[in-house]
Amino acid sequence: MERFGTVIIGGGIVGCAVAYYLTEEGESDVLVVEAEELGSGSTGGSFGGVRQQFSTPLEIEFSRRGLAFWQTAERRFDSPVPWHPNGYLFMTGQPDIMAKLGEAAALQRSMGLTDIHVLDPEQIREVVPWIATPGLLGATYTPNDGKVTPTDGVAALVKAARQSGVRFREHWTVRSLERVDSGWRLTGPEVVEAERVVVCTGYWTSDFLRSFGLELTIRPQALYSAITGPALAGQPVPLTLDLDTGFVVEREAEELIIAILLEANPPDYGHTRMLEEFADLARVRAPSLVDLHIAKRVVANVDLGGDGHPYVGSVEDGLWMAAGFGGHGVMHGPPVAELLAKTIAGRPDPTVDITPLTPWRKAGAASEWMVAAKKG
Ligand SMILES: Cc1cc2nc3c(=O)[nH]c(=O)nc-3n(C[C@H](O)[C@H](O)[C@H](O)COP(=O)(O)OP(=O)(O)OC[C@H]3O[C@@H](n4cnc5c(N)ncnc54)[C@H](O)[C@@H]3O)c2cc1C
Repeated sequence: MERFGTVIIGGGIVGCAVAYYLTEEGESDVLVVEAEELGSGSTGGSFGGVRQQFSTPLEIEFSRRGLAFWQTAERRFDSPVPWHPNGYLFMTGQPDIMAKLGEAAALQRSMGLTDIHVLDPEQIREVVPWIATPGLLGATYTPNDGKVTPTDGVAALVKAARQSGVRFREHWTVRSLERVDSGWRLTGPEVVEAERVVVCTGYWTSDFLRSFGLELTIRPQALYSAITGPALAGQPVPLTLDLDTGFVVEREAEELIIAILLEANPPDYGHTRMLEEFADLARVRAPSLVDLHIAKRVVANVDLGGDGHPYVGSVEDGLWMAAGFGGHGVMHGPPVAELLAKTIAGRPDPTVDITPLTPWRKAGAASEWMVAAKKG
């Protein structure tokens, strides 16, 4: 029977990053097993936005590191990972949300991320002239946030990890995971053993780890989006989100991605309803986008649930996990994977404490409200 130092279950951005960062810690006897293809889960369906705009110190710290990871990945890994500095603009007409955006901006500044601008409606029009501002109170704008293609990051991490000896197996679904005297036995297409296991199974993790006594709230939520024909030519298009309605627009080459970001989908929700609602909202918020040509309808499952922070850490002796990024795993997955790899290797980063992210934490821990979806 084959035996490995570490087996990582799940080959999304998180599993591939954990593999790479374990090699940085000198651990190369690593196997990654992936049920489908590498990057085929939430990672493959993701918009790839990378933003500093969060509201808790831990999430902002992950953003600082995530921005650095994606901005430098192409050079670091000598692999194509283009960075598109489109920016992020979160707007609202609700006084309480505007106040919270202002507080979050102040917190980001206090942590050294000073490139955040609190805009009034007139300033919003200067940044995005295609937005109609009646009903808006203001926005927060971070021009140096950006966008990537997440599978570029997967390819870069896999290339680097392979060079250091990590092995990857696709179409290898772990059907059972059991403790044996010498560690763990994983049963899939074959049976392998490992000294330690790291579970990085995205929104599948609640089911996967239930038998270990964990009641995680990570759940898949379908996000219905559409890619338009060429639109807003020559105009700046940061990821522009109306937090009051979930109306979102972002640049995808010459085209746009459009969607409505909801905390939960109503029954029977789908593309038809999303596009109707988008057109209704556009009449008020962006009249030039009412009659967009829709080139492609896209749906993918986001890893929502929990308190907006990922579950990261030890499940039990020799069994680790990192999952449940609440729709932020592309930006936060790589830095969190690095912090976890250091912890696993027995050299935790003294500058960031990830123990509050334990999967055993009680519900009601400090929550990240800026999950970028329609607010109450
Ligand atoms: C439409 C959409 C838009 C998004 N936009 C953004 C964004 O702008 N910015 C951002 O940061 N994030 C965004 N996200 C969220 C982000 O994509 C996820 O948080 C991130 O990809 C999670 O990575 P992961 O590796 O944890 O999970 P996944 O990518 O889902 O990987 C988990 C892997 O585990 C595998 N697996 C599951 N069970 C088993 C098993 N038993 N055996 C073997 N393998 C198994 C799965 O096949 C899968 O490949 C978006 C997601 C979607 C869907």
